[in-house]
Amino acid sequence: MANKRDYYDVLGVSRDASDADIKKAYRKLSKKYHPDINTEAGADEKFKEVAEAYEVLSDSQKRAAYDQYGHASTDPNFGAGFGGGFGGFSGGAGFGFEDIFDTFFGGSAGGGRRANAPRKGNDLQYRINLTFEEAIFGKETTIKYNRNEECHTCHGTGAKAGTEPVTCHKCHGSGTIQVERNSPFGRVMTQMTCDVCGGSGKEIKEKCTTCHGSGIESVSHSVKVTVPAGVEEGNQIRLSGQGEAGSNGGPYGDLYVVFHVEPSKEFKRDGTEIYYTLPITFSQAALGDEIQVPTVHGKVKLKVPAGTQTGTTFRLKGKGAPSVRSGYTGDQQVTVKVVTPSKLTEKQHELFKQLAKEMGSNVKEQEGGFFNKMRDIFNAD
Ligand SMILES: [Zn+2]
Ligand SMILES: [Zn+2]
Repeated sequence: MANKRDYYDVLGVSRDASDADIKKAYRKLSKKYHPDINTEAGADEKFKEVAEAYEVLSDSQKRAAYDQYGHASTDPNFGAGFGGGFGGFSGGAGFGFEDIFDTFFGGSAGGGRRANAPRKGNDLQYRINLTFEEAIFGKETTIKYNRNEECHTCHGTGAKAGTEPVTCHKCHGSGTIQVERNSPFGRVMTQMTCDVCGGSGKEIKEKCTTCHGSGIESVSHSVKVTVPAGVEEGNQIRLSGQGEAGSNGGPYGDLYVVFHVEPSKEFKRDGTEIYYTLPITFSQAALGDEIQVPTVHGKVKLKVPAGTQTGTTFRLKGKGAPSVRSGYTGDQQVTVKVVTPSKLTEKQHELFKQLAKEMGSNVKEQEGGFFNKMRDIFNAD
């Protein structure tokens, strides 16, 4: 809709209006233009316009997007009418469509009006399993699942090819009928969902042979998914419009893709930091060494200085995982674990005995000359 009015103008509020002001304006206008109260020409359109404006401005995220991008920020399917549908109203806003009925019609309206309102389709959830590395580097993948789509033969109308649904003869398109009932208090008029059209306001004379009149068919659907680099277990992304078909011209629901990350055998991860335990020998710890350490980015040379104690941690800068939000990449922390040999060859046994004699049993005594002695002994090999 090119000539769409500004949502703030529609509700008659300023651009910095508070949530309470927006809600107040909506309450006032939706009552004023409600088609059951206001029979003037164009009131129905005004009511829809007000509802649409409220749907966006009452949602802080949608409002922020609208402030920045204007009408382009709203879903392309939105133009069909109510967009988010009434289901959206009774959600986070805390003020539902029901409230209008409750306050204005004493709750007697029933589901009639709501029955033929456009409704957003169901949201779906899809789980993607990722290896430890895939979660760090991200990937492109295509997922396939079954979803309810608009029937390709009748384009959702439910009518047989070449025919069109006609306005329901019983409710004249409103989806609601008035029923007179006897009650202990006398005869009362009650509004009910039309039993002929089920509330859609449309009657199908000849049903579509593909969907048997439902307007919906289950279809295998493929979507390309870009897994962002750095995702973690349980993270999810929302793919707008990849859920199931809406009803009465409402938009498709959304698809939530949830990531499950397989743990790694060698690495542990906490956010952007990766942890690795490096086993080294007694002599590597004592004499120092250059060791190839595995990282998710490939092997990296680590200089272990002479006299390294077990439990010492070294940091490999930028060898961790990226942050999904900032793109900053963390470090890999390498913790050294000195492994005491459990099996010794005869020669090793002899050397250790020699070493033990040289070092004595007092730990204090070993400092200073210790490494030189070690070097001498092992280099004698
Ligand atoms: Zn069909
Ligand atoms: Zn009907």
